[in-house]
Amino acid sequence: MTAVLRTIAEAREWLRAERGAARTLGLVPTLGALHEGHASLFRRARAECERVAISIFVNPTQFGAGEDYQRYPRTWDGDLALAGNEGMDVVFAPSAEEMYPGTGEITVDPGRLGGVLCGASRPGHFGGVLTVVAKLFHILPADRAYFGQKDAQQLLLIQRMAAELNVPIEIVACPTVREPDGLALSSRNRYLSHEERSRATVLYRALRSAEALLTSGVTDAARIENEMQRMIRSTSGAELDYARVVDRGTLESPGAIDREVLAAVAVWFGETRLIDNLLIAPRS
Ligand code: AMP
Repeated sequence: MTAVLRTIAEAREWLRAERGAARTLGLVPTLGALHEGHASLFRRARAECERVAISIFVNPTQFGAGEDYQRYPRTWDGDLALAGNEGMDVVFAPSAEEMYPGTGEITVDPGRLGGVLCGASRPGHFGGVLTVVAKLFHILPADRAYFGQKDAQQLLLIQRMAAELNVPIEIVACPTVREPDGLALSSRNRYLSHEERSRATVLYRALRSAEALLTSGVTDAARIENEMQRMIRSTSGAELDYARVVDRGTLESPGAIDREVLAAVAVWFGETRLIDNLLIAPRS
């Protein structure tokens, strides 16, 4: 049975009882609308930790004005069933009031890395993400916390926050789970019309073509970016946000590619913004 905890006091009480028995704790933060991508994180945590807590919280501070906070899918019954099937011990599902009782003036600043790629299109997004993740780390101080490579910039920022703020939690990166045609699983995929859904494969196709160019010997990042951008722009219904090849650690342009780099894309289909990425390396 998965226990549901609604308040921070309940979470602390559960933790005190579990900690008394000195068990390892895994934490998997989510926004809910759970799918197989989330489930892969749950399974990894289940395999590596004696107790696993997940959080389901549509965090208002990581959504900008005019973004999809209000209409973000909320599928509580299905989420709880999935958490139970995956053997999760606890679902921490607080209200916004429970999580943000204060003025909200004290936040975690993601710095320069929070202002590029998705941060350029979504000002304030990563500040909201890091702040809520820091709060979750304090409410349920786990031994390990699990995050998807699907959100590569988020993962990098959380790794940086953990390192720079001395967070005693191991950050575990998990691979991206995809549909058979390559589309990365996302809670937002359900917004897509039938037509948009089939066109949305262009994200993964663009990333794979970047990989193919690099392994065939093209090491000029700009040339690879141009090809990804061309593919996305020539897809009807797709509006390019960005298609970039960047250094994994700095998210800056690598110039000539001589190491593993991050190819990352963000594309609008109507009101829906999708992201994806691939780590690609030149042939050795
Ligand atoms: P979200 O609920 O979208 O905030 O995602 C919660 C966690 O699941 C984040 O660490 C995501 O990176 C991860 N995640 C989301 N989609 C996928 C996917 N397709 N494959 C692997 N991890 C994912």
